[in-house]
Amino acid sequence: MLVQTTSDKVVRFKSTREKDLFDKDLRIAIAKYFQDNNISKFANAEMYFKTVFAIVSWIAVWSLIMSDILSQRPLLFFAAFTALGYVNIFIAFNIGHDACHNAYSGKQWVNKMMSYSMNFIGANSYLFRMMHNVHHQYVNILGTDVTLETHGLFRFTPDEPHKPIHRFQHIYTPVLYALAGLHWAAVKDFKWMFVEKHIGNNKNIKHPFSEYVALVISKVVHFGLHLFIPMIFLSAPWWMALLGYLSMQLLPGLTFALIFQVTHVYDGTCYPKPDEEGNIENNYAIHVLETTADFSRKSRLGSWLMGGINIHVIHHIMPGICHVHYPAITEILIDVAKKHGIVYQEHKTFGQALRNHMSILKKLSKPDATVPRYRETAPAISMN
Ligand SMILES: [Zn+2]
Repeated sequence: MLVQTTSDKVVRFKSTREKDLFDKDLRIAIAKYFQDNNISKFANAEMYFKTVFAIVSWIAVWSLIMSDILSQRPLLFFAAFTALGYVNIFIAFNIGHDACHNAYSGKQWVNKMMSYSMNFIGANSYLFRMMHNVHHQYVNILGTDVTLETHGLFRFTPDEPHKPIHRFQHIYTPVLYALAGLHWAAVKDFKWMFVEKHIGNNKNIKHPFSEYVALVISKVVHFGLHLFIPMIFLSAPWWMALLGYLSMQLLPGLTFALIFQVTHVYDGTCYPKPDEEGNIENNYAIHVLETTADFSRKSRLGSWLMGGINIHVIHHIMPGICHVHYPAITEILIDVAKKHGIVYQEHKTFGQALRNHMSILKKLSKPDATVPRYRETAPAISMN
């Protein structure tokens, strides 16, 4: 049973003219950047290169596994499957995520086609779009932000009722996070499509028949290529291919979950709560700055590999812009935020972000944890 998931209230942002001015200034400055440099906000040559790189990498690693030369060398066999898992999360971060935000191209059919890369790696893009959009709109608000819903397994927010098991959440976190990819591929999509009629605050959802067909076909393709074909055609025993599939999901799944989680759930984030009427007294862009932190922003390789997930603040405010532009437009965001006296938060390294993630999990493991609701009381982690 889901606990406090769907909000009965319609949650909306009730802002002031002053706060809206920040949002307006930011949008004008970023539009000017694209205009002055005469560049499109969608994919550029670097993005096309990344797309080709992802496809070639997947084919190379999969062909290596299917060549059968690793079947008698278990360590290398599992390492190759783990590498395939990392290629898959590269695809999710760099192609699927942008496409699901219609940020890959100005042409909707291109975005739709590229978003099927999510289905290919095991996560249904139709459902991902739905759940991810709800997350985007209502970061860190329990009842509407679907990423806070964990069936009571975790307490990511002080608004989640405390359970005795939460006392150990900072200890069992890595184990459960490692199951995230597997759970998504084998359970979550089916549950959302066939059992639950809501995603976040979208209630009584009626999925089109074509999406049921797409779900079945894409699961056949995903499990066929990553599990059943290796099971049938390799000389390794079937259970080794099964363990190979698990190793493809576990470590990459842990990495995937941590990269997403540290951007919103960290010591220093805010947990805004709607009032009786469902109002959040804020401008949405400022809400994002209060609930989101970037990490390793200056690492060119890290940002390249993570598809800009680490440059998350601007992504939330303007998800329709392709991630290859995030480093440049985040400089604009920092500048505009400074002018308006708004705190921009970032962790310089992933290690720092991870420590802060574990720190908030530990705080929330106790029933009486006090964490900030709004920025006024939240400490700035780092200011540029
Ligand atoms: Zn997103």
